[in-house]
Amino acid sequence: MFKSNQIQRPQLVLVVDDQEINRDALGVILEGKYEVIYACDGKEALEKIDEHIDELAMVMLDLMMPEMNGYEVLEYMRENDRMRHLPVIVLTADKDAELKALQLGAADFITKPFDLHEVVLARVGRIIELSEGRKLISAAEHDKLTMLYNRNFFFEYANRLYNYHPELHLDAIVMNIEQFHSVNALNGRDFGDDVLRIIGNEIRAFLAETQGIASRFDADRFDIYCVYNGDYRDLFDRFQQKVNSISPNVSIHLRMGVKPWREKVEPVLMFDRARAACNMVRGNYQKPLMIYDEDMRMGELLNQRLLNDLKSAVKDRQLKVFYQPKYNIQCDPPKLSSAEALIRWDHPELGMISPGAFIPLFEGNGLISVVDNFVWHEAAKQVAEWRDKYNYTVPVSVNISRNDVFDTTLIDRLKELVEENGLDFSHIKLEITESAYTENTKQLVDVIEGLRNLGFEIEMDDFGSGYSSLNMLSSMPIDVLKMDMKFIRNIETNETDRRLVQMVLDIAKYLKVPVVAEGVETENQLEILRQADCDLVQGYYFSRPLPPEGFEELIKREITIERN
Ligand code: C2E
Ligand code: CA
Ligand code: CA
Repeated sequence: MFKSNQIQRPQLVLVVDDQEINRDALGVILEGKYEVIYACDGKEALEKIDEHIDELAMVMLDLMMPEMNGYEVLEYMRENDRMRHLPVIVLTADKDAELKALQLGAADFITKPFDLHEVVLARVGRIIELSEGRKLISAAEHDKLTMLYNRNFFFEYANRLYNYHPELHLDAIVMNIEQFHSVNALNGRDFGDDVLRIIGNEIRAFLAETQGIASRFDADRFDIYCVYNGDYRDLFDRFQQKVNSISPNVSIHLRMGVKPWREKVEPVLMFDRARAACNMVRGNYQKPLMIYDEDMRMGELLNQRLLNDLKSAVKDRQLKVFYQPKYNIQCDPPKLSSAEALIRWDHPELGMISPGAFIPLFEGNGLISVVDNFVWHEAAKQVAEWRDKYNYTVPVSVNISRNDVFDTTLIDRLKELVEENGLDFSHIKLEITESAYTENTKQLVDVIEGLRNLGFEIEMDDFGSGYSSLNMLSSMPIDVLKMDMKFIRNIETNETDRRLVQMVLDIAKYLKVPVVAEGVETENQLEILRQADCDLVQGYYFSRPLPPEGFEELIKREITIERN
């Protein structure tokens, strides 16, 4: 490292205090190490700062002074581009004054009567060092548009509040604008800037009523670290109303996540959680406010755990494929027709985990294709194994998730799978959920046509949970409709549900495809479905999803029935 041989000039510090005794006391402490100049009130302070701005390393500022007090000095400095970055340590005897000074941009405090010399020197040294480093990275403290802190300084100050003011119970609040990019795109950047500025103003107005700081974290994310004892709903409404008043022609929706103060938790973590809460209500205009609570925390820990553990789960064969039979109920006795492959995770510590706990998680980040690929291979091997062992073929349906549909290698992978195991294309059926159909119709139709041309059968899963129109359905390549479970649940008692089931069956008849009713649990439900001409049934009434050994019993039973 470069070292100068010249004796370095000591750094220049300005001490501002109306009381001579205080000026002297600080002079004694500082003069061994710094060059010190003095001012007796705010006015003189600003003159000296102006004169020495290029040499000054810092200002030590009393708050209570006649003429122009310390707050006014801070305020002036903050509005002044040249002075804004000069660090100020506030001298005060009043704890409550500290926060206000911090909000005005003070870097630190020294309480009167002055602490031990070493302590004062250490704090001055640290602030100067920090500020020099800060000049190097040369980040401006405030976001020009909203005059809130930018993210780096925000966290520096948040940490300071957290460390030096344990008596303050500060909540973390994250606020976001829904679809801000389209607000910009539709109304122009200037309008977008206005929106941000108005939110910034309202946040500053809010902070003036309580204690806290705020930043514009990125484009349209605002972080507020503050004391708030009211209802968060009211706070949300306050900002939303402000935004509503901007223009009668543009509707702008905010969303908000809150991590309320409960115990000492570092600001960064508090804001991670507030952000997680805020993300959970993304796009949810009915419920734009989310409070982070214990349930969310447990859920997040579990998700993290599952994401970490997936790799070893595949390697250590913790993933298991279960099979649930589908029966043709128009035969007497009902005849085993096929099965659905359903994934289970036999976790060494968490026990058997059902797919509801991890499928949506993996769908969110693409890992689902790892799971699906595994299931497809297991299922295909299993069909071949049973065929060889019992001379009996049970076709198996596998679930295809949204992500898979848009993977260009899908068709080749499935083709290879069938060929590798010496199967017929009709032995593997593909379940695609209805909601995928509504998303990207053209591409989906192409992929499905490709699969059907090979000979795969396509089952539309969870039919009735999405919003396919009859029109769309008739142009869709589908071989089977799987009726959503919710229709069956109350079929015995609810007349409307029974009519809906009848309607689904009529639609299927019109499309000339069979229907699978899922979630059938009772004899009564089965009877109603049989009378209504439903062909196939899957549900606990016949069997829960079973491990392969268990499913083999059903195969053996079927073979016995056929022989007699
Ligand atoms: P799904 O495809 O609609 O599967 C049917 C679900 O209903 C299964 O839950 C099954 O165990 C359950 N079920 C069957 N009969 C009854 C019944 O009579 N009563 C009740 N209450 N439930 C019944 P499971 O196995 O927990 O799977 C949940 C969902 O997870 C599946 O819904 C499917 O969307 C997804 N899933 C399961 N395995 C896979 C997979 O390998 N890949 C993908 N992508 N998704 C999968
Ligand atoms: Ca399914
Ligand atoms: Ca289903």
